[in-house]
Amino acid sequence: MFTVMQLFHHADAEEGAFTLPQDESKHIVRVLRKSIGDVVHVTDGRGKLFEATIAEANKNRCELTLRLIEESAPLNPSLYLIIAPTKSADRMEWLLEKAVEIGISRVILVRSEHSERQKAKTDRWERIMVSAMKQSLRFHLPEVTEIRDLRNVLYEIDAEQKFIAHCDGTDRKPFIKTCRPNLSTAIAIGPEGDFSKAEVEIAKSNGWVGVSLGDRRLRTETAALVSIDAFQWLQMM
Ligand code: SAH
Repeated sequence: MFTVMQLFHHADAEEGAFTLPQDESKHIVRVLRKSIGDVVHVTDGRGKLFEATIAEANKNRCELTLRLIEESAPLNPSLYLIIAPTKSADRMEWLLEKAVEIGISRVILVRSEHSERQKAKTDRWERIMVSAMKQSLRFHLPEVTEIRDLRNVLYEIDAEQKFIAHCDGTDRKPFIKTCRPNLSTAIAIGPEGDFSKAEVEIAKSNGWVGVSLGDRRLRTETAALVSIDAFQWLQMM
């Protein structure tokens, strides 16, 4: 696998001259001790990877020259995780980091009847996701949305297969046997208090399939991770 030693993320990166902001300039010149002619890498988080040669090693305005060396396709098939943020911010951060490492296209945050936490720390979460993207050597940064109403999301999501994982034992299919490979997929994971019966019903009448993730009752973040992992394994079988 291609190894990237120092990878920076800038959504506006393009071929040619590029100036790093002050904090990164300082980091690259003072901490990493890079000088003119040294090479680092930059991704735009939308698939492009640039080789970046240092043209001016200024600790306030480090100048790079970017050359496109790789353009990767987005995750295929796409996987959308619909989830009510957990009460504990730590658990949510842990989940987002692991979700990006294992492979996800977008995280759609929702408010549902039994939701506990209503605030999204999207800026902080995006930083965690950027680190996870770099760690897993991917060049696509999954998007995390602001919190939206679950019912609207259930009506609007466009995916070739849609699943709602819930703990109410009636009318559920095993996720691993129901999810098919090579199809764009959405999976909805409920809050600590589970989805309400009404929410599950609305989902089902809009083409979502009720699924079980096994006979153990999992925490929200565990359930999300188990489903993402199962989905990604399924693509490799
Ligand atoms: N408090 C609830 C449990 C909620 S678990 C109860 O006592 O029943 C939080 C979420 O994780 C659920 O809404 C569901 O989406 C998912 N989940 C956890 N374990 C699951 C399982 N075995 N099968 C399907 N979904 C599960």
